[in-house]
Amino acid sequence: MKNPDNATNETLTMPADCLFCKIIAGDIPSNKVYEDEDIFAFRDINPVAPQHILLIPKKHISAVSEADRDDAALLGHMMLQASRLAEQTGMSRDGFRLVVNTGNNGGQTVFHLHLHLLGGRQMTWPPG
Ligand code: 5GP
Ligand code: ZN
Repeated sequence: MKNPDNATNETLTMPADCLFCKIIAGDIPSNKVYEDEDIFAFRDINPVAPQHILLIPKKHISAVSEADRDDAALLGHMMLQASRLAEQTGMSRDGFRLVVNTGNNGGQTVFHLHLHLLGGRQMTWPPG
């Protein structure tokens, strides 16, 4: 755990204007598929595949590049839970894709770390 007195640390605060923090808080409605103490998962509002789920940490981390060693278990938990959700939603049999867009070149548009879980169609490589 980080020092809770370090209130200026961006990863500890919930920016009032963060869309995904508002979704976690229930201030913006979402189609939730999973929630526990540490993470939240919901359907993407603009799906790019027949199945498109976003997994996010409840703790505000703006991007994976801002995560640190203390976040290792949290990041691992997100990935394992994505795999479980893929199984539960029928994506596992034919395969699925996990994506973390990061920064400008990565195409990140919402600056609260999220893991895209995509399935239900053949993906192509390289990505666009
Ligand atoms: P990024 O482009 O940052 O990797 O992904 C952000 C994702 O959030 C996009 O796929 C976008 O469709 C999704 N998104 C943006 N606003 C909302 C919203 O209000 N609700 C939901 N469910 N998804 C959203
Ligand atoms: Zn946030």
